[in-house]
Amino acid sequence: ERMDAFAYTALPGRVVFGTGTLAQLSEEMERLECRRAFVLSTPQQADKARELLSDLGEHGAGLFDGATMHTPVEVTERALAIARELEADCTVAFGGGSTIGLGKAIALRADLPQICIPTTYAGSEMTPIIGQTENGVKTTQRTEKVLPEVTIYDVDLTLTLPALLSATSGLNAMAHAVEALYAKDRNPVIALLAEEAVSALASALPKVVADGVDRRARTDALYGAWLCGMCLGSVGMALHHKLCHVLGGAFDLPHAETHAIVLPHALAYNAAAAQSAAAALSRALGTQDPAQALFDLAGKLGAPRALRQIGMPEDGIAPAAELALENPYWNPRPIGRDAIETLIARAWAGEPPS
Ligand code: NAD
Repeated sequence: ERMDAFAYTALPGRVVFGTGTLAQLSEEMERLECRRAFVLSTPQQADKARELLSDLGEHGAGLFDGATMHTPVEVTERALAIARELEADCTVAFGGGSTIGLGKAIALRADLPQICIPTTYAGSEMTPIIGQTENGVKTTQRTEKVLPEVTIYDVDLTLTLPALLSATSGLNAMAHAVEALYAKDRNPVIALLAEEAVSALASALPKVVADGVDRRARTDALYGAWLCGMCLGSVGMALHHKLCHVLGGAFDLPHAETHAIVLPHALAYNAAAAQSAAAALSRALGTQDPAQALFDLAGKLGAPRALRQIGMPEDGIAPAAELALENPYWNPRPIGRDAIETLIARAWAGEPPS
């Protein structure tokens, strides 16, 4: 059934998608009238980033390979000082959400145009959202200042993404699409993207995990991840994202894994109160029970399905439920203290969603 009232704001940003598209970086810099690129990466991806810098020739200003999780302000300030010294006129973030987060943090302070070259499925390149950590406290803000100008998706770069990271990063991306379907500010454009995204990722991820260099499957997975990023960037999230934020922050759990584990449970909690979302997910997943299907998919992909597997202590369940009730937020189904504790307990133990 169609939505009969909504508001929708389209976000600007150019996307180049394909195989071998990395070769178009110089051209994209020219379009932006940029001549001195500051390349960003994690230490793990420094070699590839250095290659990219050298391919840029005189248009490569320098490399900062210290990007790390949670965008610590100290790291940003170090990178920013180098960007200024090099007189860089744009950043080129080569990597996952952590590296792209650093490019956004630089844009927030120095307004340098950003070219993103994503190598995971996290989707940060499509959002005007930035999370930063200072003195151990993570704060998130939404501002168009951090929305990247250009994203180059090159399927080739995802061929090296390990199976487990492909699985968890892909499920993390699907969580953005799932919650977009029952967002308070949902709209028909984003709903179309979300349904397509879930369908593309659900069919591609098992093939990607079975054979990391299956280009057809890698292309579909990256396409789905792009759409999921647009979902996250365009509408507000709900229970699932709140729980993951609480659990990740309280027990220092890994980001993508936490999302992968919680998603089926959050969806089961909300499904009856979000019938059009449940119907869209049923179509996308080809099943009557999308929450169970996501739980089965995680199992098939070899992703962790229990919070205890990734380091959450059992005595953290009750305090986590308390934290999830602090600072009320919108959710299609009201947040009940006991129901949330039951949900977390099931996710902790790795039981199927109910
Ligand atoms: P990540 O960027 O931390 O990357 C994980 C690891 O994988 C790193 O060591 C990286 O070097 C390596 N890696 C990346 N691509 C690879 C490849 N193709 N081959 C081999 N190794 C590769 O992880 P992520 O899941 O992409 O991003 C998670 C972070 O992004 C979190 O901090 C999250 O909060 C943030 N995020 C932000 C937004 C937003 O809108 N602001 C959206 C999604 C995620």
